[in-house]
Amino acid sequence: MQLFWPVALFILGSIFGSFLNVCIYRLPRDKSPWNPSRSYCPHCHEKIAWYDNIPLVSWFALGAQCRHCGSYISPRYAVVEFLTASVFALTYLVMSGRGEPAPVIAVYLGLMCLLILSSFIDLELRIIPNEITLGGAALAPVVSVFIPELHANPALGRAFVFNHESLFWGPLWACLAGMAAGALVTWLSGVAGKALFRREAMGFGDVKFMALIGGFLGWLPVLIIFFLAALLGAVGGVAHLLRTREHHIPYGPFLSVAAAVVMLWGDKVLALLKWAQIGGE
Ligand SMILES: [Zn+2]
Repeated sequence: MQLFWPVALFILGSIFGSFLNVCIYRLPRDKSPWNPSRSYCPHCHEKIAWYDNIPLVSWFALGAQCRHCGSYISPRYAVVEFLTASVFALTYLVMSGRGEPAPVIAVYLGLMCLLILSSFIDLELRIIPNEITLGGAALAPVVSVFIPELHANPALGRAFVFNHESLFWGPLWACLAGMAAGALVTWLSGVAGKALFRREAMGFGDVKFMALIGGFLGWLPVLIIFFLAALLGAVGGVAHLLRTREHHIPYGPFLSVAAAVVMLWGDKVLALLKWAQIGGE
């Protein structure tokens, strides 16, 4: 029975991944993810039968080709399904392992979906749609008030701001402080980057994206995410420049990877930082 939940979450994740694929295509093209409800081939517009739409299986079974028109289906479909499935199972294992309550695990799974969605849209089109960033940021205070445990795990640096006693104002302040910290640090670095390099480094989409992440995770985790993403971005940016001679790289995927690392292993990152601080003195 120990395998039941991880396997169930892997399967659930692959189904969510399949839906994320639909959103990755439709959201930035101003098409509704619900209408039409059935998936269709973007080339011949033929509806895709259920047996050709099974997560993780169909892309391989079809040999990366549409059954009707034979046009190429991007491996992105299989990648997103496998990634979401793995992230769901891993998130469950790590979070239940440190005794997090089920509602917090559920919110984190939802947040992981938003990170995957934003990253793949940003990779493809260099934007993060407002439906995700502003929609998610608007949701953060509501979720924080209904699930106050989201901001109340001292091991993760998730503590109510000002140690507020109230189960309403405490998590609400923690959420708003996280949003402000995420947006401000990203915006300031964008302004500084523009002044230093005379180039647009950080888009306003990234500012809104970090407000969303901060709203769910709080001010300390979002600041750690900012610096971790900058580190990953520096390494990734140099590699990208050497490979393609292209300066502009989408920053959303770096922010997302950093956010996922802090969500899963933030307690370990914090312990490492505390150790480095003590070691430095
Ligand atoms: Zn087709």
